[in-house]
This record gives sequence, structure tokens and C-alpha cells, in this order.
Amino acid sequence: MACGPRFTPHPKSVPGDFYVEKGQCPACGIPHVIAPDLIGWTNEKAQHCFWKKQPENPAELEQAIAVLEAQEAGCHRYAGTDPLILNRVLSTNCDYPQSTSNLAEAAPNVPHFALLDDGPSLLAKVWRTITGRSS
Ligand code: SF4
Repeated sequence: MACGPRFTPHPKSVPGDFYVEKGQCPACGIPHVIAPDLIGWTNEKAQHCFWKKQPENPAELEQAIAVLEAQEAGCHRYAGTDPLILNRVLSTNCDYPQSTSNLAEAAPNVPHFALLDDGPSLLAKVWRTITGRSS
């Protein structure tokens, strides 16, 4: 972890580049299906995701990236700076996203569509409006 998370991780999560933001959970349950070895329920009165472990091998890294791709509320984030991971995760879910020029250098043959690749999903926008979270 280079600079640390931009938002407050749920305290039950193990430290690392992948984290879930504390207090942003409408209990969708999606990550538990995609990465049951990495993500668990906190078993608090109000259910919340937490990272049981950070990815330690290529298969687990694929699951971690899939969690960030599948989530709708934007609560799971990547706080690392690995360009190979940054190139695969929406910049809105990264604490330290690559600039567009860096993206072009890292993946010169992959087209980048700002409206499709950078914008949060409609549900994420609605959820952020409801919770008052600005970014
Ligand atoms: S992905 Fe987000 S909304 Fe869904 S269960 Fe985890 S913390 Fe809650």
C-alpha cells in the first residue's frame, strides 16, 4: 500500500490495497458470491462487508478485481498503485487512479471511453446522492 486509503476502511478489514469503505453498505451481498474467501459479513446488527484477506495469488487477484467490477454502490476500493491493476479497475473505484496519459502508455491498444470507463454506475450515483457522499 503506497499512500493508504482515501476513505475510512471498515475496521474489521485486513489492511491492504483492497478495502471497503466503512458505513456505505446497503447489504447487496454481491461480493460474497464473487469472492467468498476474500469477503465476509461483519455479523454486526447492521450487516456490512469486510475484507477477510487480501488477494495473495493470481486467482484471488482476479476475484478482488471482479468485486470492484460488480459492486454497484462503489463501496469497495483499490488504494494501490500497481498500473496493471489500475488499468483494469474503474478510476472512480481507485484512490490513486492513473491519468489518461498513463493509461495510454500502459495499454496503448486498449481504447478508453471516458463516459463508459470513468463514470460511476447509476445505482452508485443514486446511493451517493442518498448518503450525501460526494466522491
Ligand atoms: S458491496 Fe457494498 S453494499 Fe454490497 S454488501 Fe458489500 S459493503 Fe455492502
